[in-house]
Amino acid sequence: MVDQVYGKLAGALNARSTAFPAVKCNEFYDLVEFLFTPEEASIFVAIPLELSRVEEIAVNIPATDLKKLAAQLEVMADKGLIHIRERDGVKLYEALPFVPGITEFQLMRGIVDERHKKFAALLRDYSKAMIRTMLSADAAPMEYAAPGRKVAVDQEVDSKSTIVPLHELKELLLKTEYISVGTCICRHQGALLGRPSSKPVNNCMVLGESAKFAAERGFTMRLTQKEAIQRIEEAEEAGLIHTFANSPDRFTNLLCNCYKDLCLITRMTSKSPAPSAAVNARYLVTIKEDSCTGCEACIPRCQMDALKMADGKLIRDEIRCIGCGICMWVCPTDALELKPRPASRIPLRG
Ligand code: SF4
Ligand code: SF4
Repeated sequence: MVDQVYGKLAGALNARSTAFPAVKCNEFYDLVEFLFTPEEASIFVAIPLELSRVEEIAVNIPATDLKKLAAQLEVMADKGLIHIRERDGVKLYEALPFVPGITEFQLMRGIVDERHKKFAALLRDYSKAMIRTMLSADAAPMEYAAPGRKVAVDQEVDSKSTIVPLHELKELLLKTEYISVGTCICRHQGALLGRPSSKPVNNCMVLGESAKFAAERGFTMRLTQKEAIQRIEEAEEAGLIHTFANSPDRFTNLLCNCYKDLCLITRMTSKSPAPSAAVNARYLVTIKEDSCTGCEACIPRCQMDALKMADGKLIRDEIRCIGCGICMWVCPTDALELKPRPASRIPLRG
């Protein structure tokens, strides 16, 4: 019975996002049993895909008491398993995917203790098992299920992150009223497992209404726009790629600053034969040949290996370039320029 409850979580998690898919294996069960009590797992799978009132969730849980359910949902929000919004004084509940969502809320506080070390180890073991399972020839089809909607297995679910260069990110932050910051989950996981990164860690941001929820529940800390821009410039100097996952009606307004040493998604993108197809790459860097001296300072900045010298000239691989602009920071002659990729402008909302 308990196994069945945890088994249903995979479909419920994947119906929200497959950026970090839920795949049934022993390591999946170890991870979700650590995060959810059996009762919390039952509530999670009962939450409809759309933002829902407590009464709408209760419809899917026979003989439940509304007051008790509302209190349980508060506990789940404090544990970072669900997200709560308020509309006209009414609380609306949303079940979170693994990423962006549950994983961030376990690690963004930057806490170092035995419980968080255990979580970091379970997450590492599951990540390895998930990749192994998905690559195996007899992998079962991925499950997607939530009350109110079933997603066809062959339907495309867009889970790509958007790459945002510095100039555009500053504009976005200046338009965003509520910004909060926490610890980078990948680099914190590395530190918990004894592999700290040399890159700055306090720059994982949440924007807009989701930022308010995260700060009020103690997962993150509020920043002014000026403070946020300062942290982004530090991240840019350190060579981190600004990656944004946003949606107007879900908890996904998450701004990461990524480095492939400990970030699984960035590492997988960099190993892809076509990194620009693995993410929403909205720009492409171009080289002003008249200005480039061939000093090679930009080449090691590129996490996608898109730049190299050929016959004494710098060349850029269009398929590998994701338009992050990180190479531009070190160019002494302003010989690099970002140009929008045709038909790839996706509006950003804070
Ligand atoms: S070439 Fe520059 S803009 Fe393109 S992926 Fe590399 S660092 Fe980013
Ligand atoms: S840093 Fe600038 S000048 Fe040096 S190789 Fe790169 S583009 Fe050319």
